[in-house]
Amino acid sequence: VFVCFEGGEGSGKSTQSRLLRDRLAAEGYDVLLTFEPGDTPVGKEMRRIVLSPETGVLAHRTEVLLYAADKAEHVETVVLPALERGEIVITDRYVDSTLAYQGAGRALDLGEVEEVARWATGDLRPHLTVVLDLEPEAGLGRFEGRDRIEGESLEFHQRVRQSFLDLAAKDPDHYLVLDARGPVEAIAEAIAARLVPLLPQ
Ligand code: C5P
Repeated sequence: VFVCFEGGEGSGKSTQSRLLRDRLAAEGYDVLLTFEPGDTPVGKEMRRIVLSPETGVLAHRTEVLLYAADKAEHVETVVLPALERGEIVITDRYVDSTLAYQGAGRALDLGEVEEVARWATGDLRPHLTVVLDLEPEAGLGRFEGRDRIEGESLEFHQRVRQSFLDLAAKDPDHYLVLDARGPVEAIAEAIAARLVPLLPQ
């Protein structure tokens, strides 16, 4: 079972993905919690290049290809092997982040970006994608003063948010959209409830 968390900055993906991992592990499942970008040796380098302030502004297509390389490495060396071992794989960000940030955010052709990302991942799709929805004003505030790239405009982050919602609306069977402002425990419960039918008995 392959589960993915998506959402903007400060939406609580890391918290909720950890809570889900802990919960499933406590129930006796073998679970792997992973993330993009950067959860492989190559991905770590890629993350450093793309997200470090020294890099400056990358060409949008370069950015797409670097994120795609991270995904290719992540899927082939981390995600697929774990799925083949029968583990539940939870990833904090995946293809939809690229569609949202590089596609909608950078205003590139969505179909083209999707083609690159699908190729990179061998079109491996999550059984469920949880979108933690939050207005960018609220999410960005949580990161104030931290050492991160938050140089994009509010409009950029609004396009990113809308893109996650659009992706979810197109494929409701494979998405769960939750208001990220809800209580952490209530969000965790809603995610667990939605996941039950997907879990091996
Ligand atoms: O999820 P995490 O906070 O680790 O993501 C790091 C940053 O990478 C985010 O702030 C996001 O803006 C950026 N990102 C991106 N395109 C992706 C994935 C992440 O611009 N496809």
